[in-house]
Amino acid sequence: MGTPVNIIVGSHVWIEDPEEAWIGGYVSKINEKDAEVETTDGKKVANLSKILPKDTEVLPGGVDDMTKLSYLHEPGVLQNLKARYELNKIYTYTGNILIAINPFQTLPHIYGAHMMQRYKEDPLGELSPHVFAVAEVAYRAMVTEWKNNSILVSGESGAGKTETTKMIMQFLAFLGGRAVTEGRTVEQQVLESNPVLEAFGNAKTVRNNNSSRFGKFVEIQFDKSGRISGAAIRTYLLERSRVCQINDPERNYHCFYLLCAAPQEEIEKYKLGNPKSFHYLNQSQCYELADVNDAHEYLATRRAMGIVGIGHKDQEAIFRIVAAILHLGNIDFAKGKETDSSIPKDSKAEFHLKTAAELLMCDADALEDALCKRVMITPEEVIKRSLDPGSATVSRDGLAKTIYSRLFDWLVDKINNSIGQDPNSKCLIGVLDIYGFESFKLNSFEQFCINFTNEKLQQHFNQHMFKMEQEEYAKEEINWSYIEFVDNKDVLDLIEKKSGGIIALLDEACMFPKSTHETFANKLYQTFKNNKRFIKPKLSQTDFTIAHYAGEVTYQSDHFLDKNKDYVVPEYQDLLIASKCPFVSALFPPLPEETSKSSKFSSIGSRFKLQLQQLMETLSSTEPHYIRCVKPNNLLKPAIFENVNIMHQLRCGGVLDAIRISCAGYPTRRPFFEFVNRFGLLAPEAIEANCNEKNACQKILEKTGLKGYRIGKTKVFLRAGQMAELDAQRAQVL
Ligand code: ADP
Ligand code: MG
Repeated sequence: MGTPVNIIVGSHVWIEDPEEAWIGGYVSKINEKDAEVETTDGKKVANLSKILPKDTEVLPGGVDDMTKLSYLHEPGVLQNLKARYELNKIYTYTGNILIAINPFQTLPHIYGAHMMQRYKEDPLGELSPHVFAVAEVAYRAMVTEWKNNSILVSGESGAGKTETTKMIMQFLAFLGGRAVTEGRTVEQQVLESNPVLEAFGNAKTVRNNNSSRFGKFVEIQFDKSGRISGAAIRTYLLERSRVCQINDPERNYHCFYLLCAAPQEEIEKYKLGNPKSFHYLNQSQCYELADVNDAHEYLATRRAMGIVGIGHKDQEAIFRIVAAILHLGNIDFAKGKETDSSIPKDSKAEFHLKTAAELLMCDADALEDALCKRVMITPEEVIKRSLDPGSATVSRDGLAKTIYSRLFDWLVDKINNSIGQDPNSKCLIGVLDIYGFESFKLNSFEQFCINFTNEKLQQHFNQHMFKMEQEEYAKEEINWSYIEFVDNKDVLDLIEKKSGGIIALLDEACMFPKSTHETFANKLYQTFKNNKRFIKPKLSQTDFTIAHYAGEVTYQSDHFLDKNKDYVVPEYQDLLIASKCPFVSALFPPLPEETSKSSKFSSIGSRFKLQLQQLMETLSSTEPHYIRCVKPNNLLKPAIFENVNIMHQLRCGGVLDAIRISCAGYPTRRPFFEFVNRFGLLAPEAIEANCNEKNACQKILEKTGLKGYRIGKTKVFLRAGQMAELDAQRAQVL
């Protein structure tokens, strides 16, 4: 994407550097194919083909849109972002994508009511790049064209997606809120749904102290006067394993710690105490968060629950269940009298079992049975098989995870019901806050689903940016050297193809009782041995690698089968449905007769695939706006800008591709009449000659001396930066 320029001795250039990504300097000597470059880091030698020209006339504060850069290439982009970040200018456009670099510090001067007011009054987008500006454009487009819009926020964990989403929602509430507040307004409830969902769906991880462990799509509905009239929240794939298993120095979901910091009366009622005494919390040594007071947060969460319509009784039941889960986790098992059987290990385990049963309002013996035994139905008889202590522990964790995820789904449903959908809604703005591409040392089913999501979103992004662009040129019959664009349909086929994709094969494996992760991996190796996107790693018999659009990721198949299975064992179903607490029993509604008998198995992967399909359908009926959040460093600290890290994120987020295409093409286009209206005064004779609009445009452009533009069938197509030049000429005439 570099501009081919002659490099001579004395040229200012960029060369690649393993640590800094790009490093600037000037050429001191050229030997055939190599150049010696004096850099800030000493003298280096680089191949001429790998050298890019460096703009020596950059503005100190950078440019607010990358398409205005004179040299639009990787180092230029990086330098621009860095220069801006140093001045706390965290937002920059790349055409119609907003890049937001996490400041990791509060920047009060760029948010707040005062700034919202300014952006509201800025329909032409003259203010500096901002998340409010993007929301303003979406809102403006909606109320003028009555078309659905969406704002897609992406980025890796800790990049600032959720904070950005919250600001978008605040701004939309500001634009479309009601002047008079009577009781709870829809927008208030939408805003207060955040702290509730965060208490139950967020946790401290190494990447983010307040990491959302679920994806979220909020659909805000507007009536014909542009006021918020309803909203719907859809969530995706809550991370269940966290309920039972955490690694130091991470934490479990916030709600557990909040409850342990509740007023004394509640602590006694739920028989709680120090979080250190609970197995589900003490696997990590991290209990407290800097700058967060759990006791205070507990009360704030209860208040927010009230605002979103969760009554006092339900709140009590919710926290009773949260406490029950903590007690469940403390039920340890020892070998029972019979072989391969188990019983609560000691009086402590018995106490927690009894307490968990009390809190769930179910029978303690029935709970013990459900944890330690499995009913086996053979053609001859129904027998109760005992579980050994290890299996009983797995069973216990399974119960805890099931209850927690049902509770989370209940919260989402409740919030949706209480905010209410507007059946007469005229239009909507959807805001998507979803996990970015992940590639760790070890990657499991969660990463597989997350990366699948990102492939889907990337396809949507590609289709929008690239295909729409190309189609537009084709429609206008403009000749244009087609830029090669990476289509990821092949990866998506590999993952989601109805027959024979990875998800389909996984489901098959889950339904076949003798499957193991080895047989599953083998099946994948056989099926995809000629697939370009699928690689079998040499040194493993069970791992598999997918060549994603953002790079290769190797997955460990070990827990894929377990994690894909989503069924509640009948023992739990029977136990909880019999609970005397109506809240608890309602979390486990009876299954329809046929499903409970024929297939106990329901696939998380397939359900997720379906959810994604629905999301994509919704998104494709909207006009999308993209925000790419970037995490400048892994220390979560302000003012540290890690080049290589950031470059990688820009690549994964498709930002570099977008820059490439927009430069290669004609980023600015104007219908003939608009163009003549705006620039007619540059060539008055063209209009007086009474010729048609197209010819008038031609005459105007010829007179301005611009080069490289194109004239289509209905529009003028300008190269990057030409609009600014025309405006400058116009300003001189005015
Ligand atoms: P993500 O949702 O992408 O994982 P978050 O939105 O939770 O990331 O952001 C992580 C942290 O970064 C926040 O808790 C906050 O401390 C900080 N942060 C993110 N965006 C901003 C911002 N615009 N201003 C100040 N701090 C921010
Ligand atoms: Mg988040």
